[in-house]
Amino acid sequence: MFPLLVGAQHYDWGRLATDSTVYKLLKSNHDWAKELETSVQVHTNDETRPFAELWVGTHPSLPSFIVRSPLCPLEEILKQQSSQWPDEVDFQESTKSLPFLLKVLSIQKTLSIQAHPDLTLAQQLHRNNPKQYPDDNHKPEMAVALKTCEVMYGFRKLEEIAMVLTTYEEVREVCGREAVERFLSQVGVTAREKRRSLLRDLVASLLEQSQEIISSCILRILPKLRELKTTSNQKDVVKYADLVTRLYDQHGLDTGVILSLFLNFITLEPGEALFISANEPHAYVSGELVEIMSCSDNVVRAGLTSKYKDVSTLLGMLTFEEADPQNVKFSGKVIENGVVCYTPPVDEFELELVHLKSSKNFLVKSTSLVLCLCGDGKIRCNCKTLKEGSHDLPLREGSCICLLKNSECTIENMSSKELFYCVAHMRNSQDA
Ligand SMILES: [Zn+2]
Repeated sequence: MFPLLVGAQHYDWGRLATDSTVYKLLKSNHDWAKELETSVQVHTNDETRPFAELWVGTHPSLPSFIVRSPLCPLEEILKQQSSQWPDEVDFQESTKSLPFLLKVLSIQKTLSIQAHPDLTLAQQLHRNNPKQYPDDNHKPEMAVALKTCEVMYGFRKLEEIAMVLTTYEEVREVCGREAVERFLSQVGVTAREKRRSLLRDLVASLLEQSQEIISSCILRILPKLRELKTTSNQKDVVKYADLVTRLYDQHGLDTGVILSLFLNFITLEPGEALFISANEPHAYVSGELVEIMSCSDNVVRAGLTSKYKDVSTLLGMLTFEEADPQNVKFSGKVIENGVVCYTPPVDEFELELVHLKSSKNFLVKSTSLVLCLCGDGKIRCNCKTLKEGSHDLPLREGSCICLLKNSECTIENMSSKELFYCVAHMRNSQDA
């Protein structure tokens, strides 16, 4: 196994050091690394910047390094190791490195409303516009809440959107009279294709609206929503009034402020998860979470951003399916005492969250990343094929470790409190 030195992204939506789990994990990861190898070179962190994302993996934008002097990229070691195991070559070749990326997010301010292309579209976007679309890979992602999180995901039922349109004349105006009339007169149709195309036309009309009209509608609807926030007795009205006013405070006169009224707005409690399929609009609003995704950074943005918005690509790719908020989130499956496994409908990754009281032995079925979130323990590892690497490491908040396939490991809790960590690996369940 290999102890890892990891890095963080300082996106402007992240939390400040005093209130950021990403910062806490990063700092303790660096302290741990320096204890393991005193001569290791660690960048000092500018604590005045937001700490948004911790990255563990081999993505070229922020790769993890093996703790040794001089630092060695994790990817290099994985390539060396895979050459010793013929059966590993396939997956290493086809994905160039680890097929997944593990992150922790500390969210202060809503991220952009975005969608991720499927594999075919990702390859096409990358070919035509490599600057905006740096990866040719798809990016399914899964989030598990560490603290209560708010997320926008998928479109609301057409009937709910119709309610928004009849309630707020400003939204009717910003979507255009013609599109709104057609939508309201046909909202009762049952054919799925018809419902999708109705929604598509309405959203297109909103996203293609001029900035002037968008600005004027947001400025007029805000006082109404601020009032409804305190006076309405309808839970949903209050919830969305609160959301829209917060989005305006964070992002100003952005189309996304209005678009949010058409999206499901859901809360994840700690331990609850969300899988984000290709071509579905989504945005994290607040909270702290663990995220695992295919090793890719491809994003098509729709709103709440000053970055490049690719409206025509977005309109072409979104499924425009209505999502039932009750079915969107899920709890993982308890596979043994204290171990919850989150299995997405893709092969590239799976995540386990472990609350360990005493100790646990296990065999590593595929290259795995361990990230310790809190507690005090140690890990021992026995890998017969490995000529280098560590066999015994302390495990505490911020410890990150790469475990190689076929290792036999023991993790032991050394304190009276629980040891809490997560393990990311390729999906095992089909061979279970
Ligand atoms: Zn995303």
